[in-house]
Amino acid sequence: MAKIASLIVAGGRGVRAGGGMPKQYRSLLGRPVIGWTIGAFRGTDVIQLVIGAEDGAAFAAATAGIALPAPVTGGANRQDSVRLGLEALVAAAPDYVLIHDAARPLVSAALIGRVVAALESGAEAVVPVLPVTDALKRVEGVGLANVVRDGLYRAQTPQGFRFDAILAAHRAQRGEEAVDDIAIAEKAGMTITTVVGDEANMKITAAEDFAHAERLMGGQTRTGMGFDAHRFGEGDHVWLCGLKIPHSAGLIGHSDADAGLHALTDAVLGALGNGDIGLHFPPADERWRGASSDKFLKHARDLVAEAGGSIVHCDVTLICEAPKITPHREAMRARVAEILGLELSRISVKATTTEGMGFTGRREGIAAQAVATIRLPW
Ligand code: MG
Repeated sequence: MAKIASLIVAGGRGVRAGGGMPKQYRSLLGRPVIGWTIGAFRGTDVIQLVIGAEDGAAFAAATAGIALPAPVTGGANRQDSVRLGLEALVAAAPDYVLIHDAARPLVSAALIGRVVAALESGAEAVVPVLPVTDALKRVEGVGLANVVRDGLYRAQTPQGFRFDAILAAHRAQRGEEAVDDIAIAEKAGMTITTVVGDEANMKITAAEDFAHAERLMGGQTRTGMGFDAHRFGEGDHVWLCGLKIPHSAGLIGHSDADAGLHALTDAVLGALGNGDIGLHFPPADERWRGASSDKFLKHARDLVAEAGGSIVHCDVTLICEAPKITPHREAMRARVAEILGLELSRISVKATTTEGMGFTGRREGIAAQAVATIRLPW
């Protein structure tokens, strides 16, 4: 079977899209743009990323939990970046390479399949195209001239190539200026084949494109809930929502007994319809003795990502008379946001007492409830 590599180019600064960071690392429905893009290519044999020199930390955060080769640092322009990415793929020796812009996260499996099918039936260079349907005008002074749109097409990515041929073309045209990789292939004398593009395969460029992309993504919303309780015992601190809080007692449990993170982990698993925390991390398993509960929540987060989804919102309620939660509430939100890789606005942590009633009222332990909302593809 042919070996197919994906080369995802994410070296741009993307300043037009706003948001204070390159657009490929900004959140789209709770997951970084680049996370969606990488996910779309997970059916290919190797996925090589090219990133900006200053983006190492953002890239590591956006791809936590995804097994990928080390990213290549991009060059002075896109063409240089692609060439460096191709050089990094030489050792993998793919038959074909799909070169794609990270800023097109909505690329469909069907479109990738059309490009691959064309390569497998003998094409040297493949570009997805769409006709121009809007009337085209050229501004000339104060007037507008009509542009005949017959024969005009919009080119998209992924553009697919025979690996050895496009690598040779990039090496030969190093330092020259080309519009895209198809232009480089054409100049090198390769035969160009077109396949039908996809209107949903939009390129995120401007700030308003994020809202448009989220509307196109749609998907299904799922909600899960979780509940947990742990009994007070000996100790001088408790763990709650990933924070160590000094207290006159500890909480008893096989792990660190973080009822907040346990309830939230169960809520995420519930939204996925994928069992509960005890199923994934059996209490009888010695590996989880004294475990830090962020491991459990990260596992649930990774299961959502593996399903091609994202966590949209989490709401945790801690139920206890003591310790006082309010002084730690914002730090708890920040910690949960950090564990999940989500922005703070998607995380809520609340607290209540039961007015002296029941086991929490008698100060026998701490309980927690959580609700998680996730988005999954259709
Ligand atoms: Mg528990």
